[in-house]
Amino acid sequence: MAGPTRDLAELELAELESALAPLDIEPYRAKQIYRWVHRHAVTDWGQMTDLSQRHREALANTFTISTPRVTARSRSSDGTTKFLLELADGRRIEAVYIPDSPAHTLCVSTQVGCAMQCTFCLTAKMGLERHLTAGEIVGHVRVLRSELQLLEQPINIVLMGMGEPLHNYKATMQALRMITCTHGAAVSPRRITLSTVGILPALSHLANESIMPNLAISLHGTTEEQRTLLLPINRRYPLSALLAACRTFPVKRRNRITFEYVLIRNVNDSPADARRLAGLLAGFRAKVNVIPLNAAPGIPYERPTAEQIDRFGRLLAEHHVIVSVRKSRGQDIRAACGQLVLESDRASPGQQLASFINPTVTANQVTEP
Ligand code: SAH
Repeated sequence: MAGPTRDLAELELAELESALAPLDIEPYRAKQIYRWVHRHAVTDWGQMTDLSQRHREALANTFTISTPRVTARSRSSDGTTKFLLELADGRRIEAVYIPDSPAHTLCVSTQVGCAMQCTFCLTAKMGLERHLTAGEIVGHVRVLRSELQLLEQPINIVLMGMGEPLHNYKATMQALRMITCTHGAAVSPRRITLSTVGILPALSHLANESIMPNLAISLHGTTEEQRTLLLPINRRYPLSALLAACRTFPVKRRNRITFEYVLIRNVNDSPADARRLAGLLAGFRAKVNVIPLNAAPGIPYERPTAEQIDRFGRLLAEHHVIVSVRKSRGQDIRAACGQLVLESDRASPGQQLASFINPTVTANQVTEP
């Protein structure tokens, strides 16, 4: 006899309701099941104690619930923990847990690898292996919440792991609907940040979505030429058009678009860059997150010195930009932005610092406009 074939992990609540009809299970049971799976991370039918034996059997005969499997974890001395997870087809992704207060943050992947080819990013070197499904995106959040005993706690989610979320738009948006569903993990969209290079057609779809995460834009350059050098996608979706799209993006009241700016020595870290950046963002409800480059073997750039980083931040602040500099965390594991690449896939594992990153705002670098 053929085993169960349909993957419940991929279903939104309404889809699950419809899928129960042929089994003669009442639609409201979908909420119970959804709560077990997505809120309590229970995937064993036997533990779903408010369902009858008949229901559990029918469900077990119909559905699998695929769940990414944690195969390795490395914990930094500051608690930042990188997880390696294996998917049903054996491919692997990484995700990062960043302890913080009041809420902890999970840094989540949307693709296996990435197609964007940013020249300073280690994940880019993998190329794109494939998109994640919505169930895999939701699934690795679920597994981490469970492993870290965070099921009952508020968490922040940043789509800043492997991959470009807007290049995998449909699955990413489905995942956000599932993660925010009140019968599931019920994560508030205000606690979710989507980081993107700015794939403009997808960005304009996002502007019309009912579930609106916070938006972070990987800017990294202040001229077309400089940005194209760092993000080849800038040829297709240039800085000028990206900024125009950001101007009309519906930012919620009292909220701001975050512009991420990877600071690279002698590439984009001059006082003129800081002034140009401030000029580009004048009139925006924006904040800038300066990310000092996480250097790595194979990446042809260097991290600026602490003084240079500080000077850049101060200059932005002097020009009335709200700025935070990501502070180093997780010095002893490779968990930082752009460093999510599978060890075994790397030609030279090397020994570089992994500095994660906490959007901490230092008082002397912040000024309200
Ligand atoms: N594809 C999304 C998410 C990528 S990771 C995006 O590009 O926005 C999140 C951030 O880390 C991005 O701003 C990315 O540019 C940055 N990043 C990538 N490699 C980095 C590196 N080596 N050092 C510092 N930041 C890096």
